[in-house]
Amino acid sequence: MRPDTVHPSPSVIIVGGGLAGMSAAIGLQQKGFRVRILESRRRLGGRVGSFEDAVSGKSLDYCQHVGMACCTNLVWFLRELNIDSFWNRERVLHFFSSTGKHLPVQASVLPAPLHLSGLLRRWPGISHRDRVQIAWGLWKLMRQKAVESLDEQLAIEWLRSIGQREEVITRFWSTILVSALGDQIDRVTLGATRKVLIDGFAANREAYNLLVPRQPLSEIIGEHGGQSLEALGIQIDCGVTIDYCTWTEERCQSVVSREGTQFTADHFVFAVPWHRISRLIEEHCEVDSVSKLQSAPITGVHTWWDRSWLEPPHAILVDRLCQWVFKEPIESKALHRSGIEPDADHNEHYYQIVISGSRDLPKGDSNRILELVASDLAAVFPEAARAKLLRGRVVTDPNSVFSISPGHQKSRLAADHFARNNLWLAGDWTDTQWPATMEGAIRSGMIAANRLGNSSINAPSLHVSDLPKGWLSRWLIA
Ligand SMILES: Cc1cc2nc3c(=O)[nH]c(=O)nc-3n(C[C@H](O)[C@H](O)[C@H](O)COP(=O)(O)OP(=O)(O)OC[C@H]3O[C@@H](n4cnc5c(N)ncnc54)[C@H](O)[C@@H]3O)c2cc1C
Repeated sequence: MRPDTVHPSPSVIIVGGGLAGMSAAIGLQQKGFRVRILESRRRLGGRVGSFEDAVSGKSLDYCQHVGMACCTNLVWFLRELNIDSFWNRERVLHFFSSTGKHLPVQASVLPAPLHLSGLLRRWPGISHRDRVQIAWGLWKLMRQKAVESLDEQLAIEWLRSIGQREEVITRFWSTILVSALGDQIDRVTLGATRKVLIDGFAANREAYNLLVPRQPLSEIIGEHGGQSLEALGIQIDCGVTIDYCTWTEERCQSVVSREGTQFTADHFVFAVPWHRISRLIEEHCEVDSVSKLQSAPITGVHTWWDRSWLEPPHAILVDRLCQWVFKEPIESKALHRSGIEPDADHNEHYYQIVISGSRDLPKGDSNRILELVASDLAAVFPEAARAKLLRGRVVTDPNSVFSISPGHQKSRLAADHFARNNLWLAGDWTDTQWPATMEGAIRSGMIAANRLGNSSINAPSLHVSDLPKGWLSRWLIA
């Protein structure tokens, strides 16, 4: 081919540098596009990020994030960016009863889905009859095919309809589902419930393993992840907030920043959250359905104590206000950016408490929330009752995740919904069949990259397989 006939590879601008935008960037770069990310914050990562604690000078995650081994696209993403070594895999789940009994649980020698049956056998505060009832519920879920109508049905109504007692719903189902789905049990669908329990626990022996970051997320994703993207040749512009698009004949021609800078490209991927997309494109695209997606809050309560009071790396609390407790990551790097030396004597012991679906917490009253959290922890951990809470900080994002309530699936748009307008969508809220998670966001970016690549340059699809079902699970799960 003569040099003057060589066409440059097509260019794509990705608006939004969260995990969805980042994974779309990897996918499109692998397909031969010239990729540029425009991100409004100082760093990439979006909701998967950190803030700097003024007192200790350390970077703290807005809220603890954990993945599970069933999140195969997350695992792929971390490997592609060479940041998988910053995550621990925890194979023991540390449950604590509401009165403080420690129940460490890990996979037994039994095949999936029986490998975690020890958890049900030892689940605190329920009778033998309740255990049989729960096993019956889990069996019915496994035998239930994943059909669309499950997304119209509330999980709690289904649980009641199959005879689960209210105490069992609160003590067992709610503990498992609320933190996995990010919302209260009376709001989530049966479809999402089935997905979490099958994909996360029943299908594969390893699926439940936790992936827990060992360093602040802003360092792992924002710094190291960003550097890896740049090394791949992806251009990243942080601190650029896109305000609107310009159009020619129904096609998006450019995006324009708040400062008025115009960015043109052959294609555009919008990887912003559901509550931001309308403002950017509504003049030309019909996005009414997206505004029906409801948000759910998650609260991270950052606490510093005068002594250590938790032995295992995390605690999952059964039937308490505090749902998860995490110790400071082992390798948390004390940042010196603010000029503050880390606490060399370890006089402060940091714990983060996560409360998902935190609608009922007192609004705007951090002190009251800290009191409630401290007394909740004191009831479970005798050492916490003796410890002094030195200080705390409450971080609630009202738009943490979208609520997986009945009907939400109809509001989720496909990546190529506006393909004729030259505009592609990514983000945890797009149609991935996953709840709002890191995995869902990464899948959405991959889907956008595949659809754009297929339609524009006929590039082959990238695909990451799910964990394989165990031999018994293949038989049992419909
Ligand atoms: C408190 C909390 C706890 C969570 N816990 C977990 C967990 O334990 N496990 C898990 O898997 N998931 C968890 N999640 C969910 C997970 O963080 C999200 O599902 C995922 O990060 C969403 O990624 P995203 O790229 O779709 O969106 P985002 O991360 O929101 O990224 C969108 C990006 O777009 C940028 N942007 C927006 N508007 C513009 C604009 N106009 N111009 C330029 N840029 C723009 C934003 O700054 C942002 O960086 C949690 C979320 C929260 C908030």
